[in-house]
Amino acid sequence: MRRAPEALAVALREVDARRLRRRRVVAAPVRAEIEALAPDPRAAAPPVLAIDGRRYVNFCSNDYLGLATHPALAAAMADCARLQGAGAGASHLVSGHGPEHEALERELAEFTGRERALLFSTGYMANLGVAVALADRDDLVLGDRLNHASLVDAALLARTRHSLRYAHGDAAAARAALATHAATSPAAGALMLTDGVFSMDGDLAPLPALAAAAREHGAWLVVDDAHGLGTLGPGGGGSVAHFGLGADDVPVLVGTLGKAFGSFGAFVAGSAELIEWLVQRARTYIYTTALPQPVAAATRAALRLVVTESWRREKLEQLVGRFRSLAIARGLPLLDSPTAIQPVIFGAESAALEASEALRAAGFWVGAIRPPTVPPGTARLRITLSAAHREADVDALVDALAMAWARHAPPSVAGRALR
Ligand code: PMP
Repeated sequence: MRRAPEALAVALREVDARRLRRRRVVAAPVRAEIEALAPDPRAAAPPVLAIDGRRYVNFCSNDYLGLATHPALAAAMADCARLQGAGAGASHLVSGHGPEHEALERELAEFTGRERALLFSTGYMANLGVAVALADRDDLVLGDRLNHASLVDAALLARTRHSLRYAHGDAAAARAALATHAATSPAAGALMLTDGVFSMDGDLAPLPALAAAAREHGAWLVVDDAHGLGTLGPGGGGSVAHFGLGADDVPVLVGTLGKAFGSFGAFVAGSAELIEWLVQRARTYIYTTALPQPVAAATRAALRLVVTESWRREKLEQLVGRFRSLAIARGLPLLDSPTAIQPVIFGAESAALEASEALRAAGFWVGAIRPPTVPPGTARLRITLSAAHREADVDALVDALAMAWARHAPPSVAGRALR
């Protein structure tokens, strides 16, 4: 991009012309509705937003268990801020590592069944840090074609000479690539990066087959379970636990704390040696300010709720089932997703935008996801469900969605909707 005075304005107009401009809004939780439920500890505050003075039911957040506005998290955060202050003041390795960080790392290690866990400020940084620390120049870095942007960037930042993306979910292709690299570069290693639950599609990675391939070729398998931990598997242990796999199968487990855990931050869990190596070599851990301790305190409160309140997972699962059966009955073309992420692909950017606007008019907030976040021609509504939704919210959403689909679906399939 040239630095002529008009160059950015021209580039932005081009983004507009392709209907790819991203816009943000100021969204605030509706306090009155949260407080109305606060006395009931088993009630999840409804995911309701006020935007530009209007009320919307939010169907696109990652707050899958309804914990982001939970009073226990807010109280833990406020109590900790009074004791420890708002900011960490330094990186973990200088003087920013406090008792709440230490306790949370211990609890996350226990929760994931690993020897140690290491906090990072964000999931994006955790993924970059892992790849840079573990990949050498001659190693193969392999990733699923639909991996999250942070894993794609992690592979770039690893600066290996051998980087490859395999077709989505194709464990056989991943295994073949590992075999080829082992044959041509016998002294080199390999790093395989995958989402556990794919963030824009909601499907699960074929973890048993990937783990077998990684073990066969002595490769590191890194699973970023941003959307699985807390929601899937026994005790909310995530996609790895869902498949009955453990630390030997998936030696590097990345979790984020801004989704099902309702707070902010991320962690990597693994063997004591792995974590110690990350402390020494993960640049996004070493050279950045530690996340505020009140955030860690809120996450500790969330973790207790994730472990003890299994009803949240059960309710989420029940709402996912309800959404899917109602949507399928109305002819909506769902993807093969068993998770809280339930996209509806409209194809053209304009169709996804107009469908999003139609839902907004009906009182639902669902953003349109467009390239480059998803492949060209697959613009979509990424609907996400939460334990905090009510059945009536889901039913009303499906009604509005079926109408939007009837009006904005690709012409070849539109006639099939609204049965
Ligand atoms: N990995 C995946 C699969 C994600 O979906 C996201 C967030 N959208 C991240 C990592 C990044 O996590 P964070 O928001 O904590 O940076």
